[in-house]
Amino acid sequence: MAQVITRCRLTGHYMFMGMDADPKEFKQSLGTFARKFCPFCSCEHFWYKEDSKFLAAASEPGPGVRQAG
Ligand SMILES: [Zn+2]
Repeated sequence: MAQVITRCRLTGHYMFMGMDADPKEFKQSLGTFARKFCPFCSCEHFWYKEDSKFLAAASEPGPGVRQAG
């Protein structure tokens, strides 16, 4: 699983979606997957899977974090 970040199409900035996803499954279908408030546009808009990137969960900081499995 990986943290999803998605690019705002209006400003080009990436935002954390606050969700984990499997990149392979996530990209099986394209299109919008969320509608969230965008701090860059200061408005709520849709977010697209094809604009998304993934951050490995292992890179998360924090003590006591263990990888299951
Ligand atoms: Zn935006």
